[in-house]
Amino acid sequence: MPNGGPDGGDGGRGGDVVLVADVQASTLSAFRDRRRFRAESGRAGAGALKSGRDGADLVLTVPVGTVVRDADEDRVLADLAIDGERFVVARAGRGGRGNARFATSVRQAPRIGEIGEPGQHRRIELELKLIADVGLVGLPNAGKSTLLAALTAARPRIADYPFTTLEPNLGVAEVEGGRTLVFADVPGLIEGAHRGAGLGIDFHRHLERTRLLVHVVDASAGVEAAREALATVRAELAAFSPVLAERERLVALNKVDVPEGRAVAAVLAGSEPATIAISAAGGEGVEELLRRVAVLVAEARRAAVAAAPPPADDAEHRVYRHRPRRLGDVQVVREEDGWRVLGETLEREVAMTDLNSEDAVARLQRRMRTAGVDAALRAAGCVEGDTVRIARAEFTYAEDAPG
Ligand code: GDP
Ligand code: MG
Repeated sequence: MPNGGPDGGDGGRGGDVVLVADVQASTLSAFRDRRRFRAESGRAGAGALKSGRDGADLVLTVPVGTVVRDADEDRVLADLAIDGERFVVARAGRGGRGNARFATSVRQAPRIGEIGEPGQHRRIELELKLIADVGLVGLPNAGKSTLLAALTAARPRIADYPFTTLEPNLGVAEVEGGRTLVFADVPGLIEGAHRGAGLGIDFHRHLERTRLLVHVVDASAGVEAAREALATVRAELAAFSPVLAERERLVALNKVDVPEGRAVAAVLAGSEPATIAISAAGGEGVEELLRRVAVLVAEARRAAVAAAPPPADDAEHRVYRHRPRRLGDVQVVREEDGWRVLGETLEREVAMTDLNSEDAVARLQRRMRTAGVDAALRAAGCVEGDTVRIARAEFTYAEDAPG
């Protein structure tokens, strides 16, 4: 303000881009068509010391079980396994400081105002991993679907997770004390193996998250067939994933309502891994199976909690903690027609400088000189008149420029 001193308010902070896991969401299909998401920018500050409004966070809902990977660095950033769990994918930049902040007794009418800090930018991949407690595996026709229906009949069903290559059926079984167990019948686990590696990878991904596998065997086909089925499935699981091969399992010898099935169950009882005789179709042994499964899952859960990594909060800070870097931590690189100065802090500083403002540029130049950026350029061989690039800005190098 002429005669009134600087009165420019600060700009608002931008919004963060946040992922939130929600049990109501069942698919990642919302991200199939739209792939670019941007939180709101902060508003510019205004005269009379008015600060700009902060931008709103952009909150994206994802299903529980979504794994977030950094697409450029190929590492897992977050595993949203719990309802309500949040992960900040991209942090907002802070707002630029208004020119009122740059008033000093000597500089009464500063024209300097900062541009807002650029927000974080990130390319991520989202992958949905099923969260089922128990996976039902077995050869085709062993009775997996029948067992799932028997375990979860007349009980609420979770919506199916539509996948491109498979639709595992999920069922919720209620156990004593009102707790629930989620069962997944992944059709074609074994069939898929014979149809190509691509399918198999999808299957094991989903099964890897289970705590227990129930191997359903058609006992009515004879002892040899049952033993062979056990070996085949075990080998297939091992081929998919070593994790799965080691997963705790219970063998359900099914179809004991058929005399041959009953006989086979008697022969295999007491063998390893533990077996239980059931008739998925008739209901025999199904309650007992559920009880045993509940005990094994509870044990596995306890073991998992004991071995759990530090809480998600910590992980988030580890990812985002900004190691403060000095402006002078720079690297000077020779370019064909000039020089480029690389340095995280410096580049951010330049991005936040209004290059149309002489005052702002002069202030930046003073900071660069003090931080030793000029010295680094000189040491690299940069001379008067050379072009120097920092981030998207271009300068002409001048020694002892007036400051
Ligand atoms: P999946 O391929 O493993 O899912 O097997 P299904 O559940 O589709 O069952 C295959 C066939 O076995 C069907 O005809 C079922 O009716 C039959 N089945 C399943 N469980 C039993 C059982 O306990 N007793 C008898 N007798 N047949 C069964
Ligand atoms: Mg089936």
